[in-house]
Amino acid sequence: MLFLYTCKQAHQKLSENLDRKLSLTERAQLKVHLSMCRSCSNFSTQMRTIRSAMKQMASGKSSDQDPS
Ligand SMILES: [Zn+2]
Repeated sequence: MLFLYTCKQAHQKLSENLDRKLSLTERAQLKVHLSMCRSCSNFSTQMRTIRSAMKQMASGKSSDQDPS
C-alpha cells in the first residue's frame, strides 16, 4: 500500500515538479492525495498554470492570450 502524503508533502512535491521530473512512485502518491484532497487538487491546477506560463516565457514567445 502506498504511503499517503500529507498536504504539506503534496504541496512540496507539486513545487518540486516545477524543477524536476517526479519519480513514478512520487507521482502515484501525489495522484492518490490529489484525488482525495480538493485543496491540493486546486493547488495542483495553479501549479500547472504557472508551469505552462513559465514554459511560454522560456520558449521566448510572448502571448497575450486571455483564458477567459
Ligand atoms: Zn491535501
